[in-house]
Amino acid sequence: MITTNSEILRVEQLKKNFGELSVLKDVSFSLHRGEVLGIIGPSGSGKSTLLRCICQLEKITGGSVFICGQCMAKNGVYTDNASLRKIALNVGLVFQNFNLFPHFSVLKNITEAQRIVLGKSRDEAEETAHELLKKMNLEKKELCYPCELSGGQQQRVSIARALALKPEVLFFDEPTSALDPELTGEILSVIRELAAEKMTMVVVTHEMAFARDTSDVIAFMDGGVIVEQGKDVIQNPQEERTKAFLRRFNEN
Ligand code: ADP
Ligand code: MG
Repeated sequence: MITTNSEILRVEQLKKNFGELSVLKDVSFSLHRGEVLGIIGPSGSGKSTLLRCICQLEKITGGSVFICGQCMAKNGVYTDNASLRKIALNVGLVFQNFNLFPHFSVLKNITEAQRIVLGKSRDEAEETAHELLKKMNLEKKELCYPCELSGGQQQRVSIARALALKPEVLFFDEPTSALDPELTGEILSVIRELAAEKMTMVVVTHEMAFARDTSDVIAFMDGGVIVEQGKDVIQNPQEERTKAFLRRFNEN
């Protein structure tokens, strides 16, 4: 295998079964520093499972994953636990349902992992949190609890929390699907801004115009495979399954 310095992620023939159910069948792609990969596809096609496998929230069944040139798993065999913990520090995941700790303030939601995972002091962790909350336009919400915030604000907190750990690549799993339509825009703007700053990202989304405009590469998934990937998948799909998906989408 050849990896270049700028290759942040390489997935080769990834397979994932849940018991008898084969959910990912031979998924392969790679991502370079500063690139945005948009993943589209119908519900149940394996998009979340793919992200969860790369972020070590699910165990893969077969194939290989390399992150920042480090081997997480090769031909279905994982590297040692100490290396896996280090590799996990390179990735961040933003969930559809925010997954904030409800009993922690906004500030504590962002400082806690920095202190536990990165071993930062309270002052250091709070400084990073202040900076990120400012960037997310949430300076005044530091002492609020998640239930006191709108969905869009909660999602911005969870983006700040992920960024606080300084991942090399950030994954978004349908970051706007749980939001009222009028709040979707504020999250898409944040992601657009991160893309402009050349943050390496993988974004699973049903927002087709956003995916088309923000992604360097689009992958269309269906039935546990990437049916096609490329720059113009949304504008100019080649495969019948992709065309059918996009047609259905445009009708809605
Ligand atoms: P998507 O995110 O594209 O909607 P998912 O990755 O969530 O798809 O799910 C893909 C398939 O895997 C679905 O059939 C789903 O029911 C199944 N699946 C997901 N997680 C589990 C699990 N923990 N146990 C069993 N089946 C699962
Ligand atoms: Mg999903």
